[in-house]
Amino acid sequence: MTNHEHERAIDLVTRRGVEDIASPDAAWLESHLAECPECADYASLVQSAGQLLRSVAVTASPALLASTQARVHERAAQLREHQARVVLIAVSFCIGVLSSTISAWLWWRFGGWVAERFSLPTSIVEPGMFVAWLLPAVVIALAMLASSHPVLDRSVTLAMLGEREGDRQ
Ligand SMILES: [Zn+2]
Repeated sequence: MTNHEHERAIDLVTRRGVEDIASPDAAWLESHLAECPECADYASLVQSAGQLLRSVAVTASPALLASTQARVHERAAQLREHQARVVLIAVSFCIGVLSSTISAWLWWRFGGWVAERFSLPTSIVEPGMFVAWLLPAVVIALAMLASSHPVLDRSVTLAMLGEREGDRQ
């Protein structure tokens, strides 16, 4: 037997595990393995290595699959919770801007009348505008501080998540 034949046999044995080989090649390989103990040893080694890999993959897969799925779900939930937080912050910001605008408008519209009605000096009307603009933000901040739970509580975001999940289904 030539070196070329052994090389061909080794090549075919290696490829046999991962791809289909042509039936003439397979037949030639079988006859070579029957005659050549070295290549037959290599073939059985490759076969047992393949079996070992497959059995390890099979025993590991349910646990590995479960933990991988759990990690993927956890990460997805984190991302959705983050999105929900961003939405809550945006909503709070919009409410703050809106209420500031409304109260500033109210003061601009009625501040002069209030000053006149309670015989206050008209010089307070302009600084009063600034106070009226800031007041809602101060009130919201105080309400946030006063409430026992933080406004952006985890349960709030989770509840929002639940609603969004519900919408999706
Ligand atoms: Zn050989």
